Amino acid sequence: MTDKLSKTQDTPAAGTVPMVRAQGVHKSFGHVEVLKGIDLEVKPGEVFCLIGPSGSGKSTFLRCINHLEKINAGRLYVDGELVGYRQQGDKLYELRDREVATKRRDIGMVFQRFNLFPHMTALENVMEAPVQVRGVNRSEAKGRAMQLLERVGLADRAGHYPSQLSGGQQQRVAIARALAMDPKLMLFDEPTSALDPELVGDVLDVMRDLAESGMTMVVVTHEMGFAREVGDSLVFMDDGVVVESGHPRDVLTNPQHERTQSFLSKVL
Ligand code: ADP
Ligand code: MG
Repeated sequence: MTDKLSKTQDTPAAGTVPMVRAQGVHKSFGHVEVLKGIDLEVKPGEVFCLIGPSGSGKSTFLRCINHLEKINAGRLYVDGELVGYRQQGDKLYELRDREVATKRRDIGMVFQRFNLFPHMTALENVMEAPVQVRGVNRSEAKGRAMQLLERVGLADRAGHYPSQLSGGQQQRVAIARALAMDPKLMLFDEPTSALDPELVGDVLDVMRDLAESGMTMVVVTHEMGFAREVGDSLVFMDDGVVVESGHPRDVLTNPQHERTQSFLSKVL
């Protein structure tokens, strides 16, 4: 932690605690500053879309939310709790690995590359964390995993191995697997970017259902149609800063900043 961290602690009024709150979040790798002061808030139940050119820091920001990277300055909260640190008085202490592991259970993450366990069936992939991490008994975990596979439209593929599934099916299993831990927040990092175009729709449909169920979601995506139809908020990031934010319809149809306009003219 650097001395750039502010020492103030503000407690939002009850009932208004954001699911994610970033205040001046900085992240560097060596001398390269990747996040240069990110400020944003994700409200509970919101679908929050993050767009921006390659290299702008979107994945790094998601990884900071999910405890995979430690921020260097600023404050990052998930559900009102500091990420990566514990505050005592006006001092901050780094969380221990065990404490981090406990907090990470509440956050589901789906990556561009569907990283299922290759030696396990779809069903076993979805059951794995509840059994191994939560100690849920196998029959209960199996019942719940079947429900989740049904929810993503893959009940009939429960016994298939990842290599026997299409990319889109694997990604839907990955979503079911993340949901099996009952996360309060789901992070999606370009979940459809590695898919053949004809497989994208099924994955977006699952994400749309999830959004309608009230799940809080932070979605890094190039799917502007999804952002416009499903998103509640949208942030355009470039070079480690938030350039522009607002309702997806407003930002996508009437971008105010030249950098946003230029980016959108290339992807829309
Ligand atoms: P995006 O997801 O928007 O494409 P990333 O967050 O992946 O951007 O990367 C932002 C910048 O941070 C890139 O220049 C990338 O090379 C750099 N970066 C990301 N992770 C690391 C790392 N572990 N070590 C060094 N540089 C990194
Ligand atoms: Mg990325």
